[in-house]
Amino acid sequence: MSRTIAFIGLGNMGGPMAANLVKAGWKVSGFDLAPEALDKARSAGVTITASATEAAGGADTVITMLPAGKHVLAAYAGPDGLLAAAAPGTLFIDCSTIAVDDARAAHGLVAAAGHRGLDAPVSGGTGGAGAGTLTFMAGGAEEDFDQALPLLEAMGKRVVHCGGPGAGQAAKVCNNMILGISMIAVSEAFVLGEKLGLSHEALYDVASAASGQCWALTTNCPVPGPVPASPANRDYQPGFAGALMAKDLGLAAQALRTAGVEGRMGALAEEIYRGFADGDGADRDFSGIINAIRANSTTQETVKETV
Ligand code: NAD
Repeated sequence: MSRTIAFIGLGNMGGPMAANLVKAGWKVSGFDLAPEALDKARSAGVTITASATEAAGGADTVITMLPAGKHVLAAYAGPDGLLAAAAPGTLFIDCSTIAVDDARAAHGLVAAAGHRGLDAPVSGGTGGAGAGTLTFMAGGAEEDFDQALPLLEAMGKRVVHCGGPGAGQAAKVCNNMILGISMIAVSEAFVLGEKLGLSHEALYDVASAASGQCWALTTNCPVPGPVPASPANRDYQPGFAGALMAKDLGLAAQALRTAGVEGRMGALAEEIYRGFADGDGADRDFSGIINAIRANSTTQETVKETV
């Protein structure tokens, strides 16, 4: 079946994702509010329409990659929205990272309008979006997942069907909560090691082969040296920006509250990363949190004085 895809939101992630769909042979029309995003997408072979609804009206699948839940719900809803413009039975795939509650609300709107929906957030960042190596976490009905699969496989290397509506966002928020908490733990350990006279290399050699082993340590190591490809070796250029980690931990904290979970570490991680992003960490890799921890730690002299 020849399929036409409408791609709404052609920014840092959506632009290269749409380009990979074009490369894989699909007909892609798209729209974004930002003229620079339109220019880039046009040069990658995306047919630019005058509005998002014009793209949706001529497509059998509508993919959204927008900043936050309020953008997705606003784009979907109302007489001038994407749902009203699309032909009955259109498949709506939202790849944005949004709250689980917003994702469930979006599924509700999609179903009420007579369409089919999938939440399919990603991990892998802009590098993965460009290389077509994203991981997709999908939530929705089996048959809708099956129909989306070839498209998702053109943009990613791993696609996991996590369950029903909202399950993709649930998996994303849980994973990123682990990541945020573990990066803080690894960073605190390196700063403590420094204070105790331990070299970065020695701590890395032990922890990477012991029970402290985790992705934050062995792939995105927050100190320069032990893992040459980690952002710490290029002055914390992202990678995964502090602002995005703060956003995702905000969604995790919201989910913890809604679900009534005693998630003290998750809530604290949000507070710590919110402070980092509000300072100078918004555009730095999230592993730069180690510099904030070091800066907020007492000097050796102060420690001696207080003993
Ligand atoms: P971005 O700001 O680069 O892109 C979002 C685009 O949406 C912008 O170009 C903006 O103009 C456009 N937009 C906003 N409202 C619109 C509307 N109503 N109609 C059409 N276009 C509209 O952001 P991004 O980095 O591409 O992130 C997109 C989503 O992916 C976010 O939810 C983010 O949390 C998630 N995400 C980002 C990364 C990353 O590394 N950047 C990684 C994983 C997930």
